[in-house]
Formats: sequence, C-alpha cells, structure tokens
Amino acid sequence: MRTPTADVYGAYPPLTDDQIAVLRSCGQVQPVCEGEQLFRAGEPSEEFFVVLSGTVAVVEGHGDQEQVVQLHGPRSFLGELGLLEGQTAFLSAVVRTSGEVLAVGSAALRDLLSREPALGDVILRAYLLRRTMLAGAGTGFRIIGSAFSPDTRRLLEFAARNRLPHRWADLEKDTEAEELLMRLGIAPEETPIVVWNDYRVLRDPSNAELARVIGLRAETAEQAVCDLVVVGAGPGGLAAAVYGATEGLSTVVLDAVATGGQAGTSSRIENYLGFPAGISGMELAERAVVQANRFGARIDVPAEAAGLERRDGNSVVRLADGGTITAANVVVATGARYRRLTAPGVERLEGLGVHYAATVWEARTCRLDPVAVVGGGNSAGQAALFLARESPAVHLLVRGGDLEHSMSRYLIDRIERHPRIHVRLHTEVREVTGEDRVESLVVENNRTREQQELAARALFVFIGARPATSWLADALTLDRRGFIPTGQDVAQVAADIWDPLARAPLALEAGLPGVFAVGDVRSGSVKRVASAVGEGAMAVRLAHEHLGEVGPPDIR
Ligand SMILES: Cc1cc2nc3c(=O)[nH]c(=O)nc-3n(C[C@H](O)[C@H](O)[C@H](O)COP(=O)(O)OP(=O)(O)OC[C@H]3O[C@@H](n4cnc5c(N)ncnc54)[C@H](O)[C@@H]3O)c2cc1C
Repeated sequence: MRTPTADVYGAYPPLTDDQIAVLRSCGQVQPVCEGEQLFRAGEPSEEFFVVLSGTVAVVEGHGDQEQVVQLHGPRSFLGELGLLEGQTAFLSAVVRTSGEVLAVGSAALRDLLSREPALGDVILRAYLLRRTMLAGAGTGFRIIGSAFSPDTRRLLEFAARNRLPHRWADLEKDTEAEELLMRLGIAPEETPIVVWNDYRVLRDPSNAELARVIGLRAETAEQAVCDLVVVGAGPGGLAAAVYGATEGLSTVVLDAVATGGQAGTSSRIENYLGFPAGISGMELAERAVVQANRFGARIDVPAEAAGLERRDGNSVVRLADGGTITAANVVVATGARYRRLTAPGVERLEGLGVHYAATVWEARTCRLDPVAVVGGGNSAGQAALFLARESPAVHLLVRGGDLEHSMSRYLIDRIERHPRIHVRLHTEVREVTGEDRVESLVVENNRTREQQELAARALFVFIGARPATSWLADALTLDRRGFIPTGQDVAQVAADIWDPLARAPLALEAGLPGVFAVGDVRSGSVKRVASAVGEGAMAVRLAHEHLGEVGPPDIR
C-alpha cells in the first residue's frame, strides 16, 4: 500500500488545523524514524497519535507475514475503539516514512473528548467504524482450536460477544492453523490457544485471563465503598452507569459475560428511539460503553455476581471469583437468559448448530445452509429475517396457531413477504440429529401428531427467557417466576424491612433499601430496550434519594 487509506464512510477523516491545534494543547510532538513501532498488537495502547508529517502503516502480523491494513498520512489519526476503552492494541503501527507525530495520552484524550464534543464526535465515529471494519475483516488476535472443543467455542463466543477483533483458525479445516502451530512448536492437543502477531501466545486462557490481557477487566483492587454498583451491563445497566457517572456517583459496572446483554445479540433493533434505520445491538452497546467510560464509570467484564448482603448500611456484592464490592446503592440489571429447548440431541449439539443467539458469529457457521428458527416472538422473527439474508431456506417453527399473538406487525409483514422464510405453525421440535453438527430435525405437528424430517444445518432457539436472579435467592424477595418485585409490590411482601424505616420502598426499589431492580429482571417489566434504559436512568435518580436519606458512604 503506497497511498494513504481513503476516508471511507468517515473511518479515516483528516483532522483540520483547528482540531490539531486543540490536540497539540495536551500532547507532545515527536520526531519518528522509518521502522519505528508506535504501538504493538497484544500490548496496551496508551497513546493517541496524529501523523503531522511522513506516513505510518497499521499492520497485522510481523516479519515476512506482515500485512498493511491501513496507511496514515499527514492529518490522519491512528487507533481504534480499544484506545478509549483501555484495551490492548489489536494491530501494530510502524513508521513507513520518517516525519513527526503528535502523541496524546489516552487519559488526556478522554478528557478532551468531553470538553470538545465536535472533535470527540469525529474521533468516536471513526473509532466505532474502524472496530466494525476490523471485526468484519477478521483481523486482530487469532484463536486456534477445534470446532469440537468446548474451550474453543467458549473463547470464540467470548470474543464475539465482547466485539473483539479476532479470527478463528479451525484446527480441522484451516491449513493456517497447522502451519502456525508448527512454527510455535505447539501440539494440536494443547489447543485452544490465542495468538497475537504470531509470537504472543496464551494457552487455553480462561475468559477472565483473556479479558485481563485485553484490558476488558480492571485489576480488582479492594477499594473504598462506592456510591453505585450496577450488576449487569445490558441496556438497563449501561443506562444506570451513564447516568450514575454523569451525575457524579462513583460507579462500578459488572457483567458476567459481555456488555450489551440480550440487546448485544440482536442483529438490528428497529424500534429504539432516534435510530430510524435501526441500529445493531452491538453498536448500541459499544456506544453506551464508550459513553459510560468517558464519564468515569468502571466496567468489569467478566465479573459474575454470586451473592448480595447488607453490611453496616451498605450493600456488599459477592463475586463468583471470590472478591467483594461494597456500595451505598446497587442497581440489579441482570436481565434474563434464554430458555433451553429440551429434545433429544439439543444439549449434545449446543454450539455445533444449536444456538440461542443469531449474531454474525453464529450465522457464519451455517451460511448458505437451510436453517430453522424456533419461537413466535420478536426475537425469533428478527433472527429469521437476519438469517434469511444468506440462507436459502429459513423454517420458522411456531408452537401456537398464529404469529399475531406474540410478534410485532412490522416483523410479521416482512416475514410473510420474504420468499425464503417458511412459517410452520403448530410445530414443535422432537429431535435434533447429527454426529458432529446438526444435520436435520424431526418436527411434529402438535395437532395432527404427524412427524416429518426437516433438512436444517442449524437450529436457532428463541422460546422465552428466565430471570437471572439465582444469585439473589437468599437476599431479595422474588416473585413466583423468579423476577424481582419493586415499589408497591415489594412493600406488601416485605413489610418487615420497610416498617422500621418508616417509609415505603421507592418506585424501583427491591426488597432491600438502596437496592434497585431495572429492565427485564424486574417483575412486570416491559422487556424492551427503551424501557430498560428508562428504568436504568430512573434508578439513578432514586439512588440519589436514598443517598440523601443515609448520607454519602464516605461521611457515614
Ligand atoms: C435477539 C433479541 C432481539 C431483541 N430485539 C429487541 C428489539 O428490537 N427492541 C426491543 O426493544 N427489545 C428487543 N429485545 C429485548 C431487549 O434486548 C431486552 O429487553 C433488553 O436487553 C433488556 O435489558 P436489560 O438490561 O434488562 O437486561 P439484559 O439485556 O438481559 O442484560 C443483562 C446482563 O446481565 C448480565 N448478568 C446476568 N447475571 C449476572 C450476574 N450474576 N453477574 C453479572 N452479570 C450478570 C448478563 O450477562 C447480561 O449482559 C431483543 C432481545 C433479543 C434477545
């Protein structure tokens, strides 16, 4: 690549003189020489660089294997989303032609972005686009392992759910996998491994280890009592984090798997206010994470809450890995998890064609194959439309007799018009067959009992969700289905807690003072992105009320 990368869709915009002048006020001009490395894949990226003269290549791999992904000339800036989120670099930057760069520390950059919103928008938009392009191009670290290994599947899912640029080298299918293992002197039995730049290797890392290396998870230091702990980083939790942090509360967010929650697995959310063309759940999540980070919320992923108790007027959240975190207020936003389908073959083939989400990652395992989607709600409808973009046939299997009962009209209209989606009403899955992956399904008409074999190479299941509240069973009053009652509903069932306080629980307050439940996990909630976000914002207002009553944790 000899000419600088063109500014496609705003991903590589040249900065103006004024913008460079603003950046100069908090950065340093440095001379750089050909061959000098500005940052390296797999290592923390802590500086924002603007090229003032000369050129800088952003490359993948090293030595003979090096490939130029972008070339930046004067006025162009380097980096991608990870710089704002404190993540490791996924690519390396090497000076191609000597010149000068302006270097700004990442903390100074974050500060600048909130003071200079116009400049902030240019950088943020470019970074979001660059992340999407990186992920789409399969650049970033490599996961090498077998499709049949549960650990490989775990790592792939973790990377995909956390929107981390990566490429999978399939041990059974990709010659690249074999070559790389030979070069590294690693036996196939020792996989899965994660590799950066062909030299930095993590052997079968746990999700937490990978997260720490990438910079997703902050080093957990025992810290002073914070104002707000948000458990769950779906739309409700992220909204609470953004509002909490902007309103000056010291805020920590925990999520067991990835930011974005269920919404993060949605290929397109079409009814969220302000996005007339829809927005992918991943992009919505990414934007919210940058926003929460920018205002100073600390986001820890993966960090699973395993218990909650009251101590000295505060709430203590116990983590599955043994740590604790103490806060004056807790927002529980742990949402819901999909119900599993119970039929012979389903459990054995989970991850091998049976999926509970339909993101780009699941879709790429069955492109161009016929597939089936189980469920009659909006999630099933969205998944069917998404998969039908490439699949020659999508069978939508619905237990009931119509779609109107549980699916939005706009989805039904599109499904009915779609030539490759075939709706089968009164249909249930009786068996999933296949040795190493799904080959076909046995389905039954639940009125006639007639059974039929259906050629489908993947099965996507969307049959409702269970609240993620098992970790709260000893701490909070739950309703009969396990959701968390709040406000007036909890006043009736937990009078012993509220009577001594001489007040009723606040609107979203759960069975303990200062503990709020928002979004899908809350009893009677609407199960929509917008309502979870609204409740997250509202909970912060109520947390202030609670702080007003008990006083801030540091002066109690
Ligand atoms: C495929 C799909 C498509 C959808 N499409 C739409 C749509 O178009 N429009 C719409 O309005 N809604 C849609 N929804 C519904 C919407 O996504 C949910 O209502 C919304 O995500 C609920 O947000 P939440 O924050 O309450 O919880 P969730 O999104 O469920 O997030 C909960 C988070 O908590 C974490 N968690 C759980 N337990 C723990 C624990 N013990 N410790 C730490 N973390 C934990 C989970 O990992 C998760 O990230 C869709 C849902 C799906 C699945």
